[in-house]
Amino acid sequence: MPAYRAGKAQELDRIADWLQSELAALKAARPEHGVILGYLNTEFEKVERELGLFAAILDDPALERRAHVLLQGITRYVVTTTSHYLAGLRRQSAEDQQFRHVLLGIARRLRLDWIEDLMACLYRELGVVAKYRDLPCIPVFYGPPHLLETIFELTGVYHEFGHSVSAKHRQFGGELMTTIHRHFKEVKDRPGPLTPEQKETRDKAIDQFRERWTEAVISEIFCDVFGAYACGTAYFALMVDLGISRGRDPYLQTSSTYPPTCARVSASWHALLPEQQNCATAQKIHEGWQRYTQCFPATQRYRIGFSEELVGNLATQVLTLLQAHLPDTPRYCKCLPSVVEAQAIAKGVALEDLVNSGVSILFDAPQEFAAWQQSARLLIA
Ligand SMILES: [Zn+2]
Repeated sequence: MPAYRAGKAQELDRIADWLQSELAALKAARPEHGVILGYLNTEFEKVERELGLFAAILDDPALERRAHVLLQGITRYVVTTTSHYLAGLRRQSAEDQQFRHVLLGIARRLRLDWIEDLMACLYRELGVVAKYRDLPCIPVFYGPPHLLETIFELTGVYHEFGHSVSAKHRQFGGELMTTIHRHFKEVKDRPGPLTPEQKETRDKAIDQFRERWTEAVISEIFCDVFGAYACGTAYFALMVDLGISRGRDPYLQTSSTYPPTCARVSASWHALLPEQQNCATAQKIHEGWQRYTQCFPATQRYRIGFSEELVGNLATQVLTLLQAHLPDTPRYCKCLPSVVEAQAIAKGVALEDLVNSGVSILFDAPQEFAAWQQSARLLIA
């Protein structure tokens, strides 16, 4: 359809002109985001060249396929650049900027040194754009407007940093996938009193369970282990909160991008040190989760597809990968503090300590939470 391509080239030209003037305006308006804008400009120049190529070949029937690939790449570029970067840079509030500094502090403490700058946008559900066109150095973090008022949700930023780690270290996902394949092969090979027909039916079911482990599902489990590695028990408490407050069946996988909540809670529990698990408050949270899950029947699909054995092995493997490839990233080794310790947090407290203190107050002295939160909120810096 050369006519369509000719029209599309005109429209993309118009968008490119608009984008160029937006980028120039933002350069003046947002000097603090010079690093991000530098990358946006470099990528803009690359895409402008691709646009020129697209315009040059759009009538050539022999290059139709090439033209469509170019068009799809340019469209992806426009969507990401405008919806995430331009939209965020245009409406940066004072609170976004404050939170950006909090996140930069976390990135520094966790030694995620590929992150050169980042943007925080507190107007959407928690999430991250971990990579901009193959670049993991300028992520965009999203959070809801009430993020700084919370403890559980705030702890979720460590999960989002996990996505940045897996965007930088792409090989981790592949290594975890290998473990999953090996696990299900071993399950198939286990001896049992099955006829060849029964074995064939069972093996087919096991293959289906294995297919539930998509790249996205593996990445979520990775981030849950990373969250507990970087932030300790507070992250496990967040997973329990997520599991209970959303009210979903913890054993059910409701999308192809997320594991069942029970697997996520389990992965974050396995990521804690024994002394963190043994602390009385952590035990209380864990028991509360177990009581909650007893209201639901664990399906065969869950018991085989997301077995404790497999999730535990994956958690251990993530910990090994982190220690081998990110040796400078500190593990959060502290146990949940006592209520007295939690109440003593003061200026200069790291967010990891603050959210762990918040969890202790929430579970051990909930009546104190409102007063504690009022002063603790001012310490988020
Ligand atoms: Zn995630």
